[in-house]
Amino acid sequence: MKNEYYMADYYHCNNCDNYADDIISEKEKVICENCDETMIAVFSELLLSDFHGIYIPKVFVESFDLEKWNLKLDKEEKEILNNPENESYWDSWNDVLNNAELIDKDKNKYFLHQDGDLFAKCYVEFKG
Ligand SMILES: [Zn+2]
Repeated sequence: MKNEYYMADYYHCNNCDNYADDIISEKEKVICENCDETMIAVFSELLLSDFHGIYIPKVFVESFDLEKWNLKLDKEEKEILNNPENESYWDSWNDVLNNAELIDKDKNKYFLHQDGDLFAKCYVEFKG
């Protein structure tokens, strides 16, 4: 995980659903052009590329620190996620996507987001 901020991937306005991806700003508050609300900075980090295809859940469970992601999988869930042929594989993976949450030392919260590739996403509202 990042220890410091880099440029946000994009900014999102929760108020009017406006996106801005052309803003170069570091640790700066960004104001929405449409509605003057503070925009949320979204940072994302690629964890696993879709090169892994249907094995993304399996690889994630095998190679990432599940405790850091606040995931407490029992033996059965780990077995399910180890086998893409298992009928519960995708359901279990959805549970992981919905429940995983990592908090770094700066108290930033990261969530899992899969859009082909698997990303860690962090939403930050700069107060400055
Ligand atoms: Zn707005």
